[in-house]
Amino acid sequence: MKLRPFLLLLQVPFVALLLTSGVLLNHALSANTHADQYTQQAQQELEALETMLKLVLDMETGLRGYVITGNQDFLEPYTSARAQLPRTLDDLETVAQASGSAERLEHTQNMRRLMTTWQSQVAEREIAARQRSKDEAEAIVASGEGRRLIDAVRAEKMSYERLARSALTARRAEAAAQWQQLQRALLLVGLTLLLVAASAAWWGAGWLARQFGAVALAAQRLAQGEWVTVPAVQLSEQRALARAFNSMGAQLSEAQEQARARTAELEVQGTLLRQLGQLSDLLLAARSLDEGGEIVARALPELLPGSSGTLFVYAASRNLLQPLAHWGGEAAQQARSPHDCWALRRGEALWPGERTLVPPCLGTGAQAAYTCLPLTAHGEALGLLQMTLPGEADAHSRRIVGSLSRQLSLSLDALRLQGELRQQSIRDALTGLYNRRYYEDHLAASVARALSSGEPLSLLALDVDHFKRFNDTFGHDAGDAVLVRVGAALREAAQRTGEAACRPGGEEFALLLPGVDAAEALRRADALRAEVASWTLKHAGLSLGRVTISVGVASLEQGGTPASLARQADEALYAAKRAGRNRVLAWSGELPAPAPGSEPAQPSSPA
Ligand code: GH3
Ligand code: MG
Ligand code: MG
Repeated sequence: MKLRPFLLLLQVPFVALLLTSGVLLNHALSANTHADQYTQQAQQELEALETMLKLVLDMETGLRGYVITGNQDFLEPYTSARAQLPRTLDDLETVAQASGSAERLEHTQNMRRLMTTWQSQVAEREIAARQRSKDEAEAIVASGEGRRLIDAVRAEKMSYERLARSALTARRAEAAAQWQQLQRALLLVGLTLLLVAASAAWWGAGWLARQFGAVALAAQRLAQGEWVTVPAVQLSEQRALARAFNSMGAQLSEAQEQARARTAELEVQGTLLRQLGQLSDLLLAARSLDEGGEIVARALPELLPGSSGTLFVYAASRNLLQPLAHWGGEAAQQARSPHDCWALRRGEALWPGERTLVPPCLGTGAQAAYTCLPLTAHGEALGLLQMTLPGEADAHSRRIVGSLSRQLSLSLDALRLQGELRQQSIRDALTGLYNRRYYEDHLAASVARALSSGEPLSLLALDVDHFKRFNDTFGHDAGDAVLVRVGAALREAAQRTGEAACRPGGEEFALLLPGVDAAEALRRADALRAEVASWTLKHAGLSLGRVTISVGVASLEQGGTPASLARQADEALYAAKRAGRNRVLAWSGELPAPAPGSEPAQPSSPA
């Protein structure tokens, strides 16, 4: 239903009220008019009665005057009244007929008859008798006939008048009763209709409030963030409003849903960015690739939950990919050739769905599920990130993995560069052994560790015997070659973790042996000395002759400092030199004692 017909419908009781009131009022007014008309008629009727009686009395009076005087002039009222009487009686008869009262009609006819009789038998006889004699006329009067007839007419008139008056009274009473009835009906119908109209207005207003209230309530709840649809309503305008509201609500709800999803996505991205930032910070703080690998192995399960994989880096030789870290239940992988990897060959990421045309790589059978990302920085390939991701590799996870691989590439590059610089700063360029700076730091750290742990620490100070002669005889290149060879022997002699082969300067070397006591140190020093002494070196096709070294050994058994340990080793070395070279001497506190098996110094003569 439409709102306009509904509102008009609500007006129906009011309109009915007005119409009924109008009809009743009209009815009352017309009844009143009828009553007035009747009263008027009754008045006329009574007036006609009075006129008739007056005419009768005029006739009688005129007749009497004539009888007494014999004067014709006295007959004039009689003549005039006699002429008028029939018309007056006709009028009265018409009124009596109209009133529908048979009695009144009868009274009229009686009066007419009585007057006719009076005229013919009394009046005309008296007039005729008077013309003859006064006595004859008076005799007729004295008979009383005239008087009797006139009294009868008067009595008829009185009866008629009574009837008319009582009819008038009855009519007035009827009109009053009718008016009262109408008043009551008006009151009853009016009140009833008023009640109906008020109830209809009340109900209509409530119904409209309920109908619009549903929309208002839905709007309120929508404003509070809860989306509800407006229930079915009956007004067509409201249906349109509800449809528009529901559609608006649906759009708003969808927009809210999208905003929520976007917020959640942004939160995930924010968390990821934070985690990537943390990973970057940790990798920046790492001091070696190995530390970096450990960090990656711990961070990736957090960054990519449910994933597993391996991070490979290029070996220094660049012909091998070495596993640096693995996570998420991935089995430890073997080193592989980078040439087997299609992602590295193409220089771009390979996602599981893109592998249909690509042969398996890295020698594994389950390649189809792998995502492989080459790690490059500054145009140089650094390694490979090979992983399996949970679920589809959608745009979101590709973005994450892309960010991660870029981050890892930069961090690995930084770690690699840092490692190279560090090596350059602590290594001797000629022999590859640790330089003086590292030697001093490592000596200090080793002494501190040994003193706190109580473990032994030994230091070997080595010097090539008569080295100057190699330079002088064969040139500096040959001298360098000798240094490189001795350096290599020393590096091989540093077998265990923490043992450091150093070249503090010139043709002097040092070997730091944590956990090694004096006896063991003497034994290893002499083995080294014997090995060097056994060489027959050649350079540029020329035999360099015999190379020997002298070694001083000091141990941190009775306590001391890094400086005192180095000094003791040097003193022992000088003692070995003084004792004839090609020998090993341990610092004994005063005179270093020669190591068992040391040969007397026999510097070789160049060939
Ligand atoms: P000693 O047996 O007493 O140790 O005699 P020596 O000749 O070995 O000792 P000396 O200290 O007199 O000579 C050391 C020489 O080593 C002097 C220096 O020119 C040379 N030398 C130092 N560093 C290098 C280097 O890096 N390369 C070459 N070829 N020679 C070096
Ligand atoms: Mg020397
Ligand atoms: Mg020297």
